[in-house]
Amino acid sequence: MRRLQVVAGPVRGRDEVRGRMKTNTEFVEHGCWQSWHSADVPLRLGVSSCLIGEKVRFDGGHARDRFVTDTLGQWFELAPVCPEMEIGMGAPRPTVRLVEEGRGTRLVAPSNGKDFTELMLAYATDKVAELFRLGLDGYIVKKASPSCGMERIRVYRNGVPVARNESGLFARTLMEHWPALPVEEDGRLNDPILRENFIERAFSRNRWRVLVRRGLSRRRLIQFHTAHKLLLRAHNEAAYRRLGKLVGSAGTIPDRELFDAYESEFHESLRTVATRKKHTNVLLHALGYLKNALDAIEKREVLATIEDFRQGLVPLVVPVALLRYGIRRHSVEYLAGQLYFDPHPKELMLRNHP
Ligand code: SF4
Repeated sequence: MRRLQVVAGPVRGRDEVRGRMKTNTEFVEHGCWQSWHSADVPLRLGVSSCLIGEKVRFDGGHARDRFVTDTLGQWFELAPVCPEMEIGMGAPRPTVRLVEEGRGTRLVAPSNGKDFTELMLAYATDKVAELFRLGLDGYIVKKASPSCGMERIRVYRNGVPVARNESGLFARTLMEHWPALPVEEDGRLNDPILRENFIERAFSRNRWRVLVRRGLSRRRLIQFHTAHKLLLRAHNEAAYRRLGKLVGSAGTIPDRELFDAYESEFHESLRTVATRKKHTNVLLHALGYLKNALDAIEKREVLATIEDFRQGLVPLVVPVALLRYGIRRHSVEYLAGQLYFDPHPKELMLRNHP
């Protein structure tokens, strides 16, 4: 098995990030995304090797995705994995497909009938354990691959495609063994809402890993939860309330139980996509904290901008920028500590879509 090789992103962007990150002793709680990340727990994504331009496809080519390499590569370390190469299939190689037969779904090369199922499943189990030890914040897989594809992989019976919603064998093992890990396909990342959700989850996951590395305590858990309140509400109000109750139970249940339950609910809650309606509620809620600080004209202006966002006339970044200005100008401490207003680098432009 080939050893995992982590590919760093372009030096310029990543070093800029690292330069702004807090070191161990400087770890502080604050509402800007940099304050919650750390150079010794790098943001890291697993990725199908062909997406970063490695010539590992069945035809000896690649499927480089420029968003992954040129944009995400500036902020994340990329850990490339090609399951088919790593089980020794070589490139170029005969194509494989998922085949339904009596023993379940198999990974087979139709040209020569060779069955790679057991080899792939054994490899995938070991590889996922290796990646888990390395630490990832998310994983981007190649769509439509019988090994890497996340969903809607074509399955054949007697040489004919049948309607099934399968995952590739490697991706299935990854998602089953590591259910909390954010996983997305390259194609789905073209959807701005799915893209934002995936990257927001990856940044959130990294913040949790940093917290664990620093040493979890009840006090730090409360600080972490407090900083994420509005972000959580934008995704899943019910989960936000459950997490609040969990944090409130600190001291009444064993700490290990509290931390495990919080971690699992936290990551699960962010899986729910933040909608325009939920963002609108959060923005109005935030405006409530400014109601005594803003004058009538300013309030009308912010309200009108939130309404424009609700109607899809302006992107989320517009009302968020307006509120941030008010928060800074009037030093509203609670809002200043909310990651909702600055959850990831603005250079990713995740909130600029209509
Ligand atoms: S989709 Fe997966 S198995 Fe196929 S070439 Fe890309 S990394 Fe390798």
